[in-house]
Amino acid sequence: MSLAQLDLLSLYECTRCPRLVHYLAQLPPKSGRNRADYWNHPVSGFGDLAARVWLVGLAPGAHGANRTGRPFTGDGAGDFMYPLIYQAGFSNQAVACDSDDGLILHDLYISNAVKCVPPDNKPTSAEFNTCRSYLKQEWQQLSQVKVILALGRDAFMSVLRLLKEVGLVERIADYPFKHNEAYRLPNGQYLLASYHTSRYNVQTRRITPQLFHAVLAQAKEIFDRP
Ligand code: SF4
Repeated sequence: MSLAQLDLLSLYECTRCPRLVHYLAQLPPKSGRNRADYWNHPVSGFGDLAARVWLVGLAPGAHGANRTGRPFTGDGAGDFMYPLIYQAGFSNQAVACDSDDGLILHDLYISNAVKCVPPDNKPTSAEFNTCRSYLKQEWQQLSQVKVILALGRDAFMSVLRLLKEVGLVERIADYPFKHNEAYRLPNGQYLLASYHTSRYNVQTRRITPQLFHAVLAQAKEIFDRP
């Protein structure tokens, strides 16, 4: 894969969540595909290593990121999101269908709070907590980040717990999840909340192109601030 990725210690071989390891080992492929077509490992983030915006999703989709090996690639959430990312000037193309499709992110890094695909898209609290060590490595290595854009309440909470762990947040209750709300952190970074771009949220119009565009516009407006 020709992706710019952070070097996260032992991520590819990580087996610290037994339930997820078991799920990965037996996950049936989508009809018409073989297991050999699937990445079936923890999925690293990717993008601009000097990004000012870090987008954090929930976890790889079973037949999206878990198949292609790249976050939000190959499923409905990405099909909705990547054209809007392109329109907002954060990438070189609207198409994001596979890990070798030529997509390059500008000023944006994308990863997930949990790196392995969970059953029913629902990691347990223990899995969020265990995988947060990788989230922490990303936060430490993405030194230019000004905006942490968390997609969905669960990713938002995992980021908040990380920020509490590193001493930037005192009381989690002071940061309620609200779509397009941006919280300034003591270190000058911002935590920005968005509804997730899941197929369900798109179908129910909880998230629309206009709503997500507004989030991306706010991210840009924040890092343009002096
Ligand atoms: S979810 Fe994270 S901590 Fe758990 S096995 Fe996968 S990479 Fe390791």
